[in-house]
Amino acid sequence: EAKKEIIKNSIRGVPDFPHAGILFWDVTTILLNHQAFQYTIDLFVEQYKDKKIDVVAGFEARGLIFGAPLALALGAAFVPLRKPGKLPGAKITEEYKTEYSTDKIEMHVGAIQEGQRVLLVDDLIATGGTLMAGINLVKKAGGVVVEAACVIELPFLKGRDKIPGTPLFVLVEKE
Ligand code: IMP
Repeated sequence: EAKKEIIKNSIRGVPDFPHAGILFWDVTTILLNHQAFQYTIDLFVEQYKDKKIDVVAGFEARGLIFGAPLALALGAAFVPLRKPGKLPGAKITEEYKTEYSTDKIEMHVGAIQEGQRVLLVDDLIATGGTLMAGINLVKKAGGVVVEAACVIELPFLKGRDKIPGTPLFVLVEKE
């Protein structure tokens, strides 16, 4: 709990970004604090070290930052889930709605093997649309979604309810 408090206190709230009236939770200030960044990865490792994770899949952009070191620590593969047009190889695509707009994510064909156990990682869950799209992509590829992990949850948006059947692990709640 002390670690979570240090992480929570290192997250900056930026008012009116990207639109007026939105309070944006900025995790770049976690990254400036080595201890807070380390604790974030440590708490995720603690949660997942015995869950036989084969693949950590991280969402562009900030899910890549937390997902890659977690994959290394778990001895798992890392798969980037990217915005359209970024991946060079053959890919599969899923459309989704964010808090702010409609978007797409893509994953390389062959990045996830049939039956592999996959952990999805992002910085923040708002409405849950992004995670839902990631779950659908992983399932399309034949992977098994074990759990989803985010640094921050906005419980008032009830994003958790959009991903029934996928356990969600978070470190910090914000209003
Ligand atoms: P959702 O799809 O509505 O759950 O929105 C989550 C996605 O939007 C994640 O990929 C987040 O990175 C991004 N997002 C939404 N609100 C915030 C915020 O306040 N801070 C950082 N990222 C956010």
